[in-house]
Parts: sequence; C-alpha cells; structure tokens
Amino acid sequence: MKTAHCVPVVMYHHISPEIGPITTSPKNFDDQMKGLVDAGYSTLTCDEFADFLAGKPTPPKSVLLTFDDGYLDNWVHAHPILKKYGLRASMFVVTGLIGDGPIRPCAEQDGVTLPRLPSHLECRALWTAGSTDSAMLRWSEIQAMRAAGTFEFHCHTYTHTRWDLVSKTREECLAHMRHEFEASHALLKEHLGGGSQHFCWPQGYFADDYVNLAQAFGFRYLYTTQTHGQNLCAKNSTHIYRISVKNRGARWFLHRIWIASHPVVGPLYNKWQSWKRKLRG
Ligand SMILES: [Zn+2]
Repeated sequence: MKTAHCVPVVMYHHISPEIGPITTSPKNFDDQMKGLVDAGYSTLTCDEFADFLAGKPTPPKSVLLTFDDGYLDNWVHAHPILKKYGLRASMFVVTGLIGDGPIRPCAEQDGVTLPRLPSHLECRALWTAGSTDSAMLRWSEIQAMRAAGTFEFHCHTYTHTRWDLVSKTREECLAHMRHEFEASHALLKEHLGGGSQHFCWPQGYFADDYVNLAQAFGFRYLYTTQTHGQNLCAKNSTHIYRISVKNRGARWFLHRIWIASHPVVGPLYNKWQSWKRKLRG
C-alpha cells in the first residue's frame, strides 16, 4: 500500500460569521470541507494520526483537523458541516471554561434561532469577566458531537493561562501547570469517561520542563502552534506542527495542504517562511 509521507495537521479556532482574528466563516469552512471530500482526502482521528507517526501505513491523502479552545460556534457551525460531509475532527478544550446546561440550537436544524456568537475579541473579554457560557461549549454539546462522530475531545489545560508569564519562580509556574493537568484530566474523566494521550499547549507556549511534565501525566502527542515543519512518519510525536487556516475557500486550503505535505516543496517553503520571519525580527 502506498503510504502518506507527511500528514498535515490543520488548526482552527472559530467557525463563525462574526469577522475577527482566527475565524473562518461557515461559508469558507463548508467550501474547504467540500474541497477535501472532492479531492479524496481522509480525515484521521488522533489515534490514527498516532499510528501514522508510529510508522503504520496511512492513506497518502490524509489530514488531521484540529480545533482549539472549545468555542460555541464550533457546535453551531462546524459540527453540522462536518456531519454533512461525513468528516471527523479533534478538539482541544479548555476544560474549566466548559459549562453545564441543555444543548443550544445549531445550524443543522432549519428554522431555529441560532445563539448569538461573540467575536474572538468578545470571547476573550468574556473569559476575563468569568462569564464564559455565551462564548464556550457546554458538556451536553460536547457529548452530542462525540455521539455524532464529528468531533473527539482532548486536553488544552483547565484555564489556558500562560503561567510562565505570571509566576514569580519556575517552581511556582510548574506547580500551576501540574494543577492544570490534574484538574483538566479529572473533568475529562468525569464527563467523557477516559483520558487521552493528546495535548495542545495553551497559547502555543512550551519548554523542556513543560514537555517532561506533560509526559509524566501520560501525554505522548504534543500539539504546537508552530507552522513551519512537517509531521513525518516515525518522527517526534512531542512536537507536532499545525497549519493555521485562513478565512479563504477550498482552492487556497487544498493548495496549502499540498505544499505542507510535499516532500520537496514543503521543506523549501518552510525554510523560506522561517527566513522571512527572521528578517521581520
Ligand atoms: Zn488555545
């Protein structure tokens, strides 16, 4: 069997008609997903991606779709579009921001009034104000997406805090991170019944001692926000690269995935982009 050389991991945050940073419109997301199906791509689960990293044969046109934080708009817009195309994605949730309560309407149902979706900046303001329900998912919605097979859920800490920036000492910082792992693991176990080996760094920050700590908690697959590298078969599972998606249609999306996974073009593109970034300082 011909196998994938590289599996691109795609990173989304918001799927929403509200314009803002790290936001893809439902129309463009629909176009991107249709593009994947039309081009014959398979969307992997995190376990299938882990098998690829371990050297197991994987279809050449494979991609892992990931979503960060756990925004309400993922239920309202991303879930129905994934369901329509029979695709799967993985979500890294900030467990302390997930609420309780009944399922809210989503775009799958015709003629319903959809909840108002705050923009990214409004969501961050709601986090700061400690009023997250109108911005973030509820456990009931997470369970519904899990049952539908559109999303699986993994850990993105309990509070999403950059403890390295607010702690007085490194020991204090690591103690906070230990609590992040313990508290989020307990909530995921309570609501979803099991742990996972996949973890995504909050705000993209990590260091060697963070990696050691995550591994001590059983996380073997660590997802970064670094774009310019390839996820290759039998390579380092503690440094997974992800492509940040733009608010553009299928043509841009498929071209970006093609570049990311190409054995020659991919590394050249990444070198060029890293060089440009260095020049910009
Ligand atoms: Zn995040």
